[in-house]
Amino acid sequence: MTMPKRLIVAIDGPAGSGKSTSAKFVAKKLGYLYIDTGAMYRAVTYLAMENNVLQDNEAVIKIAKSSDINLKFIDGVTHVSVDGNDITDKIRTPEVNSNVSEISKIKEVREALVEKQQEYAKRNGGVVMEGRDIGTVVLPNADVKIFLTASIEERAKRRTKEFEEKGISISLKEVEDNIRQRDVIDSTRDVSPLVKAPDAVEVDTSRVTIEQQVEIILGLIKKAWEN
Ligand code: C5P
Repeated sequence: MTMPKRLIVAIDGPAGSGKSTSAKFVAKKLGYLYIDTGAMYRAVTYLAMENNVLQDNEAVIKIAKSSDINLKFIDGVTHVSVDGNDITDKIRTPEVNSNVSEISKIKEVREALVEKQQEYAKRNGGVVMEGRDIGTVVLPNADVKIFLTASIEERAKRRTKEFEEKGISISLKEVEDNIRQRDVIDSTRDVSPLVKAPDAVEVDTSRVTIEQQVEIILGLIKKAWEN
């Protein structure tokens, strides 16, 4: 593939739909910046848990506004640090999973993080950003918008496998329950709910391999830069 124009690519979808895996491959292949916005909501959630302020919206908002959350994508992993401390592994636990959607409902938390996300997109011409509201709110003028979906069973299987690989013991049912709960909260919240942007292309990944997902996304990007 020839070096593309520097495009802005927005990938949204629920947990386990294949966003991170395919977005990483696509960004690497094109030499684009890869931004996992979920990692930022997870970082704020982890900090709120650490400070015992999960129920205190004002304190959580303060954390979101004042913490220097940094994402660095190295060798396939989004390294997350806050004020210089690495919290990469700490943000991907079942406990953070259980709390992150409630924290993500807070309007001011979203405003603070969306500002940082938009800054990332400005810094670099080519970017693949993934999350829940990228095509609708964060980067509404993205050149390519993709909305990934997959059956709940398939998504739960993928996430359980990821936990197993990290040595975290959790049942398929627990993972499925958490994903269902997050789906409901994420898609029904008042501020920037998880919805497909009208101009996004929906791709069901239930029965396609990662390689096929990447090919489909690259095909959509190619079409956009030919226009
Ligand atoms: O993508 P990931 O599963 O890591 O996201 C964790 C949570 O962060 C989501 O369930 C959602 O509540 C929140 N999130 C969000 N908006 C984004 C990205 C993630 O609300 N753009």
